[in-house]
Formats: sequence, structure tokens, C-alpha cells
Amino acid sequence: MVKQEKRVDSNSTDHKGDNEDAESFEEQPLDTGDHYLARRSDTWHPAEIIQTRYNDQDGHYEYYVHYEGYNRRLDEWVQRDRIMSSRFHMSDQQWKNNEKNSSDLLSDQTDRKITRNQKRRHDEINHIQKTYAEMDPTTAALEKEHEAITKVKYIDRIQIGRYEIDTWYFSPYPDEYGKQSKLWICEYCLKYMRLEKTYRYHMSECTSRQPPGKEIYRKGTLSIWEVDGKDHKIYSQNLCLLAKLFLDHKTLYFDVEPFLFYILCEVDKHGAHLVGYFSKEKESPDGNNVACILTLPPYQRQGYGKLLIAFSYELSKMESAVGSPEKPLSDLGKLSYRSYWSWVLLEILRDFRGTLSIKELSEMTSITQTDIISTLQSMNMVKYWKGQHVICVTPKLVEEHIKSSQFKKPRLVVDTTALRWAPPKKTQTRTGKK
Ligand SMILES: [Zn+2]
Repeated sequence: MVKQEKRVDSNSTDHKGDNEDAESFEEQPLDTGDHYLARRSDTWHPAEIIQTRYNDQDGHYEYYVHYEGYNRRLDEWVQRDRIMSSRFHMSDQQWKNNEKNSSDLLSDQTDRKITRNQKRRHDEINHIQKTYAEMDPTTAALEKEHEAITKVKYIDRIQIGRYEIDTWYFSPYPDEYGKQSKLWICEYCLKYMRLEKTYRYHMSECTSRQPPGKEIYRKGTLSIWEVDGKDHKIYSQNLCLLAKLFLDHKTLYFDVEPFLFYILCEVDKHGAHLVGYFSKEKESPDGNNVACILTLPPYQRQGYGKLLIAFSYELSKMESAVGSPEKPLSDLGKLSYRSYWSWVLLEILRDFRGTLSIKELSEMTSITQTDIISTLQSMNMVKYWKGQHVICVTPKLVEEHIKSSQFKKPRLVVDTTALRWAPPKKTQTRTGKK
């Protein structure tokens, strides 16, 4: 068994003869599926061993653990010294309760903890899961299957441009690439490579210095490109594979043709460096103006995510359509959107004299009436009166909210005069619809 594990897990690395001797002193690896207490930061948590691998360089087994009741983005490879020696028994009932009660509470707490402790890691992320209990049986089954497939995150790190980034989630890079602990990615054409050598060679050869497609926005060092998935299939697929490393529930990787991708870059004398992007269906039956949205970790918490959100609404305004991000939104995605919506609505309510209906607000902002109502509700600014929602607000209340740090002015705003774009010709545009 030991031999087999070892052969499977080290097939792509050099296997030195002297390791064979060392191995006879190596203890048996822990079994997958067993529960132990594992150390995360300074505390011990019940954890399941999901996968085992042999680290040739250190001559030790490593374990991929899932902390019970915590969001899977915290799953990680740990060394043996972070796992207690005896197994941990959780009765089925206990586990079920734990799953039920903690999936909301704990992952919520975890998210908050992360926000405090590892600020740079988590910003605008779309798409994470509901609990099984909230889903219909089919969705729940699909979810479980998804979890089974995506349990182990082999790719720990990527090198892209000048950044080495820790990854968060599994991404379905093709076989030998998907099993590397580190991938090397060209920041311009997004080609992925297993070896630093190949990467260095590629960087000397690659002629791309910017995304393909059309540059539709340039303001200072910021630039946004529109890439049609149909015209630039490989680039779009590479982008989706890269994004999946930081998004839990993204399912689009290969069928990119029905989508447009809006790529945000920071430009310097070397080229246009990828900061983030959002994708958008060319035709959305649900009226979504964003499918996926991501800011790469090194650029998070600097206002880029909110700039992308604002940009998506500027496009909707030019299409004379209202739109909303694809659901479900992650807790963190929700926060970004809620903050953007609140700011936009507060600015209008502050400057507007007279009465405004929710429908009018929607037409002015391209934000759906549903999103407007929920945002106003969260600020206590709406009343349900004679069968409909009515805005109910005083200048004082608006000022109070604007002053609260929660809704501070976005750091980066879209300058519409720098936007070079016209909506694609469609037979008709959607207006006023949810
Ligand atoms: Zn390249």
C-alpha cells in the first residue's frame, strides 16, 4: 500500500534510489476518510483526511485535510506534526448536527475571521454554495458530486507575472498540469506550464503583452478589454481555468463561446498586467449582467472589484437594460455588491429633490428593482404601503449612512468619457424587467 501511494503520487518527480532505504523507516501513512484533530493556526479542529501524498523532497507523507464544518476553501495540505496521533471519533448524529448547524454559522464566522486575519485573501468572489438543506434534491446530489470531484486541491501555488499566489480551490487543468503543486502561467496569453524552464523560455518567446480582443476603456494606467469567447477560445478557457483556482463554484471552463469577458489590466511599460475580470453571457435569459467576477488576490481590497461591478452597470446602462449578477452570490460577493448598490443609491437620494419611485431608481442605475428594494431595506429606507414598496427617507438618514464608514466612496470610479463601446446589435433590448 505504501509503495502504491508512493508510485502514484511521485510519478512526475525524480525518484532517488536512497529514498527507497529511507522509506523502510517511514511510518505508515494515515488512512483517507479517517478523522483526526488537526491544527489550524493555534487551535485543534476535527478534520477529515481527504488525500495522502508522498513528498519526495522532504521524505514525508503529507495530508490533505478538511476541517469539519468549515468552508472548503480552508482545506489544505499539512504535515504529520499538525495531526494528533490518535483518531477522533464523531458519531454520525453528532456529525449531522454539526453539518446542519455549522454550515451557515461556522463558515460565516470563518469568513469573518479570514477577513480580519488574512485580508488580502478574500475580496470580491462570486459563487459559493448553499447548504444541502437549502437545496432541492437534484441540486443537492449535484453539489455532492461536485464536492467529491473537487475535494483535493493539488495546485497549491501559481506564478503569474511577478506574483507567486497561493491558490484557494481545485481547478480542472488537464491531467499532468492538474497534479502539479505549482503551475507557471504567462500573465499575457495565460498559457500554463509545469516547469520554470519552459516558462522562462515561453516568456522570452511570447509576443503577447495584453489581452486579445478590443481595448474598450483606458483611464490612467487602467485598461479594460472586451474578449469574445468565440474569437479567442484558448485565451478564454485559460482565463476560466485560472479563475477557478479562486472561485469555488464556477462551472464554466470550456464552453466559452456564449460569453464575453471583460479583462481589467494595470498597464506599465512592460505590458498590460491582468488584475481581474468579469464574464457576461451574450444573451442572458435571466437578465444577468455578470456571470463570474474575480479580482486576483494580489490586487484585492484596492477597489478593483468594485470598479468591475461599476463597469458592468455602465455597460447595462448603455444597453438600456437592467441587470443583476448571477446567483447565488457568495457572502463576500454580496458584501461588494451591497456596498456598490448602497453607495449608488445614497448618492442619488442625497442629491435628488422631490420624490422618486423604485422603478425610476432602477432606470437611472440599471440595478434591478429587487436589488434596490433589498438594499434600501438593509438601510431601513423602504416601507411596504398599499401593496407596494415605497422609498421612505429623510436627508438626515441619508447623511448618516453616507458618513458611516461602511459606504465610503469607491476608490476607483468609471470615467464614462474614457469608455469606447457600443452595445452589440440585438433584435430588442430588455428594459424594466427583473
Ligand atoms: Zn504567453
